[in-house]
Amino acid sequence: MLADIYHRELRDLRISVTDRCNFRCTYCMPFDEYVWIDREELLSFEEITRLTRLFVQLGVRKVRLTGGEPLLRSQLESLITQLCEVPELSDICLTTNASRLVEKAAPLRAAGLSRINISLDTLDADKFKRMTKREDLPKVLNGIFAAKASGFEPIKINMVVERGINDEEIISMVEFCREHEFSLRFIEYMDVGNANAWSSSKIVSKKEILERIHAVYPTEDGDREKISDPAIQFAFSDRRGDIGFIASVTEPFCTNCTRARLTADGKLVTCLFSNDGLDLKTLLRGGATDDALTEVITSVWSKRSDRYSDERLEAMNSSEGYNPRRQKKIEMITLGG
Ligand code: SAM
Ligand code: SF4
Ligand code: SF4
Repeated sequence: MLADIYHRELRDLRISVTDRCNFRCTYCMPFDEYVWIDREELLSFEEITRLTRLFVQLGVRKVRLTGGEPLLRSQLESLITQLCEVPELSDICLTTNASRLVEKAAPLRAAGLSRINISLDTLDADKFKRMTKREDLPKVLNGIFAAKASGFEPIKINMVVERGINDEEIISMVEFCREHEFSLRFIEYMDVGNANAWSSSKIVSKKEILERIHAVYPTEDGDREKISDPAIQFAFSDRRGDIGFIASVTEPFCTNCTRARLTADGKLVTCLFSNDGLDLKTLLRGGATDDALTEVITSVWSKRSDRYSDERLEAMNSSEGYNPRRQKKIEMITLGG
């Protein structure tokens, strides 16, 4: 089994299918305009599938399609069909803002997609507009229910909590998800990319969110389903659903991180906070054989030493503190959140 210098196996692959997005969430893509990857530089579905096959041969069992907004990539369902044919790939999942799910949920399901994660940070239309710079809350809600009607199970809702922006909605989001049997996961606000105005004062920690929820809807002891899962899950004591936490800032999980990322233009990136990646697309389009590509991927992963979130916490707890601008990072929309 292929492992890095800290003995972490390569098990998961996050594939960004586009860097474009129709939203401008302030914590992710705060500017109106970006320089986008040229369309001819995007990996084709055949190229993505070929690389996925090689990653699976090296140990990957789970693929997540993301972006940018993955549903902006036309005919995404035909990529799902191709990925479903990769032997030994047991889990294909999609992360989306749901704005196009009304049209896309049924074709994605028919193509073989089994799981879907949807980002929703608020149920309040004004706050939604402030957070995404768009007025699409009704479309998103309709998209979520279209996914449910199409048979996606489970549907996980991801909520990034930002102090003073949407933290007052923690309980109403819990109630919404309990009512409709969605699995709600809270994501601590991270210093991804270089553009968001992250500061540690904007984080609402897992501990604080859990305390606020527990006071209203008691929860049982939590755990990870698999040791490499980013999320810690807690069941409600009344058995009506569960909640999860991705506590990347206050309880980082680098020790068990088995995730590689493939950017929309074909770079292999080994950490969400990397400042560079290895250009597989140029090798691929230059005629590299499967063996040559496998050798390059093996070489990159076996030298991997990333532990950014662990280091962030160490710095936050040190006398110097943590400077989020200490290194330039690849934007999250490029490398796939
Ligand atoms: N556009 C899709 C979506 O929003 O679901 C997929 C891409 S998005 C980059 C993937 C996930 O990253 C979303 O759940 C989003 O909320 C999360 N995310 C983006 N910026 C973040 C930040 N600064 N801190 C924590 N999570 C963030
Ligand atoms: Fe777009 Fe998703 Fe980033 Fe929001 S979080 S700007 S929907 S890529
Ligand atoms: Fe993995 Fe990097 Fe996140 Fe740590 S900071 S969990 S190494 S992606």
